[in-house]
Amino acid sequence: MSGQINAFEMAQKQFDGVAKQLKLDPGVAEVLRWPMREFSFRIPVRLDDGSLKVFQGFRVQHNDARGPNKGGIRFAANETMDTVRALATWMTWKCAVADIPLGGGKGGIIVDPSTLTVNEKEEMCRGWVRAMWKNIGPRNDVPAPDIGTTPQMMGWMMDEYSRLVGQYTPGVFTGKPLGGGGSLGRTEATGYGVIYTVREAMKHLNIDGKNSVAAIQGFGNVSQYAAAGFVEMLGGTVACVSCWDRHDKKAYTYSKKGGIDPRFLLTIVDEYGTIDKSKAQDAGYIVEDGDAWITKEANVLIPAAMEGQVTADTISKMSKGIKIVAEGANGPCTPEADEYFKKNNIFDIPDFLCNAGGVTTSYFEQVQNDMNFYWSKEEVLGRLDEKMTSAFNSVVDRSEKEKVYMRDAAYMVAIDRVVQAMHLRGWLTGNS
Ligand code: NAD
Repeated sequence: MSGQINAFEMAQKQFDGVAKQLKLDPGVAEVLRWPMREFSFRIPVRLDDGSLKVFQGFRVQHNDARGPNKGGIRFAANETMDTVRALATWMTWKCAVADIPLGGGKGGIIVDPSTLTVNEKEEMCRGWVRAMWKNIGPRNDVPAPDIGTTPQMMGWMMDEYSRLVGQYTPGVFTGKPLGGGGSLGRTEATGYGVIYTVREAMKHLNIDGKNSVAAIQGFGNVSQYAAAGFVEMLGGTVACVSCWDRHDKKAYTYSKKGGIDPRFLLTIVDEYGTIDKSKAQDAGYIVEDGDAWITKEANVLIPAAMEGQVTADTISKMSKGIKIVAEGANGPCTPEADEYFKKNNIFDIPDFLCNAGGVTTSYFEQVQNDMNFYWSKEEVLGRLDEKMTSAFNSVVDRSEKEKVYMRDAAYMVAIDRVVQAMHLRGWLTGNS
């Protein structure tokens, strides 16, 4: 995470503001501003050179009133318990706002996965499951991929869990590979989901997609399909994408006159979201500093790389033409950015609404695993569009009814649903 921003403090600050507006009982607010359970553990891994190295692992289960905890596992060198707490908290709100019957969880390991061999990655995945298997499962906590983890890794994790419990249990992890219990459409789901919400925001604001230009941060799973969807579904232009170059250890922005071609860039990006710089330059792409993405002339800004990127500092460089900010990443905009958006009438699609397509399709994957009956890609994406559109509309309605900012409205919808579930389960009556 960038600078001094602590993602969990940010998640709590956002929650506290809305809890106050909702006049939430202070005891109930205290239940929700902290995770219910946290796991911190060490994972010994035998490296290919024969040495034994120990890695730090985490899992946080924020709230499971509405159903099993759900959320990704990150393999990242800068992973911290507070980042995992924040992401688990946002997962609770995300599942609630998307109205899927799941709670909020998140996990991680402090490691740079690009430094590991395939064998070491598999060992790391299996080690994480050996530490956590008694506390995860299709009915209590269902992890998925996130930054630094892939469908193949989920396949190994599902296999390790199945071995430990003694039966094939595909529904314990989602984001698995196709043919290994995965769902069609999961790869595209988060990025396309971002675009479904941008499409609805454009309808709401009377903006023509065909004359729209997006500036995108990131070129990983979310941003790749957000970029493709922006061009292919909305008919718009993508001015630039940016990515972290894992070889040069710095970020670059890639742009091209007339707009980038996402499908071409998809052919020259590696599994960690690093674009091959020389191939891009050969194809006529302009390569600038990582920060340049936010300065591009555009009316839609899609931060889809990581948290804490649109800050008081970077916002001063933002194009004045921006009308919509679609938060593809988790927590990309700081509270100072929120203030700027409010003041300048910029329509924000908050992260846990905007990027809910991934978890919604993960939920579909679990449903298919449970039924042992698999849907076509069209069916998955059609159902996803329905869910995202309905979630967007319930947040816009609340925002208009209460005259509140979109993020606050999304929190209101989500918090109401979680509190209602806790009430219905008797968690708040004193008898449980
Ligand atoms: P990813 O690892 O596939 O891609 C991340 C991308 O961001 C890569 O292109 C990387 O190079 C780039 N990046 C990293 N640091 C950068 C920097 N400083 N400047 C510019 N680019 C940088 O990850 P992802 O799955 O696309 O996830 C991106 C964000 O979306 C994360 O916040 C994640 O939590 C969130 N998210 C992901 C999903 C999902 O289904 N993948 C779902 C919901 C939310």
